[in-house]
Amino acid sequence: MTHYHPDHIGLAGWLTEHWQAPLWTTEKEWLHARMMSRDGNEDSVRLRLDFAHRAGLDAEAASIFAERQGNYRRGVPSVPPSYRRIGEGTAIMIDGREWQVIIGEGHAPEHACLYCAEAGVLIAGDQILPKISPNISVQAHEPDGDPLARYLDSLKKLRAALPSDILVLPSHNLPFRGVHLRIDELAAHHRARCGEVMTACARPHSAAELMPVLFRRRLDRHQMGFALGEALAHLHYLVGEGEIERATDDGGVDRFLRQAA
Ligand SMILES: [Zn+2]
Repeated sequence: MTHYHPDHIGLAGWLTEHWQAPLWTTEKEWLHARMMSRDGNEDSVRLRLDFAHRAGLDAEAASIFAERQGNYRRGVPSVPPSYRRIGEGTAIMIDGREWQVIIGEGHAPEHACLYCAEAGVLIAGDQILPKISPNISVQAHEPDGDPLARYLDSLKKLRAALPSDILVLPSHNLPFRGVHLRIDELAAHHRARCGEVMTACARPHSAAELMPVLFRRRLDRHQMGFALGEALAHLHYLVGEGEIERATDDGGVDRFLRQAA
């Protein structure tokens, strides 16, 4: 199992029971899945409401956000109570061929990619996708996190570890070749986003105020949660780079402003 998101681990409970097989995954992904599948109490709703408020959502949008984020269990009815740990560099023999685990961060905490040098194939999970850019979001339980820095570092690591001519099997859309080109496109996409954020932050912006700048189409409720997390990811990255500054206003909303050159 590559990572803890519902569309990847959702059937793990059923699969392991049906086939009497152990779940193989990384420690952080298993722990995240276990945490998220129990995370429905008042505490965590309060946490998500505060997070949304600090990001600048109004009360109605904040309560939609808090509710949506609590939906993990709908897609993940059960997470196996035990697992077998894999991690960076783990070698797994499958049908006489060795597959090596390469960890990616940023989209998920310890996302496992599987690379078989002999077959020239990478099972990329969501770390590298051909058509869309994987969601990189600040999470309510780590409100000051900088997942975009982790993601960009992981892209660099993967680019160095992988030959350019391998076949990539992503978890969404079709298999493709040209992994170096795709990694460069993904990095360029985030650089362009950062450029837009910098332009907007000539005046103070909250994450909520940035959403229409970064996402020009109308967002439904589901997309709004992703968009808010993505806006924050770019803002926190730029704070980490020393390009913008964060200030909390009297109402408790964080606004970000470009540093004077
Ligand atoms: Zn995912």
